[in-house]
Amino acid sequence: MTQQHTVVLIPGDGIGPEVSEAVTRLFTAVEAPIQFEQHHAGITALAESGEVLPATTTEAIRTHRVALKGPCTTPVGKGFTSVNVALRKQLDLYAAVRPIRSLNGVPTRFSDVDLVVLRENTEGLYSGIENVVTEGVVTSLKVATEKACRRIADYGFAYARERGRKKITVMHKANIMKLSDGLFLRCAREAREQGGYTDVEYEEVIIDAGCMKLVQDPTRFDVLLMENLYGDVISDLCAGLVGGLGVVPGANFGTAGAVFEAVHGSAPDIAGKGIANPLAFIMSGVMMLNHLAESRRDTACQKASERIKTAYNQALADGQKTGDLGGSLNTLGFVDALIERLPA
Ligand code: NAD
Repeated sequence: MTQQHTVVLIPGDGIGPEVSEAVTRLFTAVEAPIQFEQHHAGITALAESGEVLPATTTEAIRTHRVALKGPCTTPVGKGFTSVNVALRKQLDLYAAVRPIRSLNGVPTRFSDVDLVVLRENTEGLYSGIENVVTEGVVTSLKVATEKACRRIADYGFAYARERGRKKITVMHKANIMKLSDGLFLRCAREAREQGGYTDVEYEEVIIDAGCMKLVQDPTRFDVLLMENLYGDVISDLCAGLVGGLGVVPGANFGTAGAVFEAVHGSAPDIAGKGIANPLAFIMSGVMMLNHLAESRRDTACQKASERIKTAYNQALADGQKTGDLGGSLNTLGFVDALIERLPA
């Protein structure tokens, strides 16, 4: 009998429910061995339960250890603190992994980008420690701990080795933030030396120059390792190199499990119109299937993942695209195009 995996599905806010519907339709068509258990987070949860991150949602992830999460809105400059940050902290999802790849059928300035952004997910300026010192003066504390810096560095080198990646580039600003980014660099160097990863090429690049190098020639990079805020910004910059936020998936790994989510947010400007590109969320679902295939040795997940990948590559090659990529399909039209192209 086929093994069924219960996965927590959090539709989230804005375009989240639309891209979630796209994934559930596609997973049904491909007969993926996944049973989704729906829970809420974000503004949707606030309206339902009075909380942006109900304990039932985090508990469900702890129980099932895998979740597929849509984007959650965070008010700018006021209101509740980020649900995404809270979820990553509460579940100790310390490593964000965001593969950035050129896609056939999505022409951009560079055609052979293949890099991975690895982002520390639990501290830095996302510690949320902000204070009003006196009227007109505020502080925002950037926290770096040896434990978290070393943990993400160890993760990065192990990831590079497992995936056959050749080089790790740490992007930093240790010329200015000598203590916090200095600690991040020291931990990366130690992880490489002490972990026996000296065969993995290693470089350190000051992030402002790194941004220039990325847009001039992203193909010179392989794995990019960085602290929280830099990872957030660089992820979107890299998304722009391969077609935009509609095509970049992601995963957050930690001790309590793994939460898969696209890099994009809730896109309030297009929410409710049915035109969002569901591909980034579909690709996050594919990463989730691969994770289940590897961690639970399930070939049915592997097969489902490969069929979906073949379908979206074929659809893009056939010019079947949503508006953000210059096409004319809406969200569910794109899903139909994929379903028509699912291999046997
Ligand atoms: P965004 O990623 O939501 O949107 C940026 C731009 O990209 C918008 O023009 C949007 O229409 C477009 N876009 C994004 N995803 C798209 C898709 N799948 N298809 C087509 N176009 C797409 O970023 P933002 O506008 O800065 O943030 C909106 C909200 O999302 C904020 O409340 C922010 O806090 C939240 N956010 C959440 C997450 C998350 O849940 N992980 C991540 C980023 C932002």
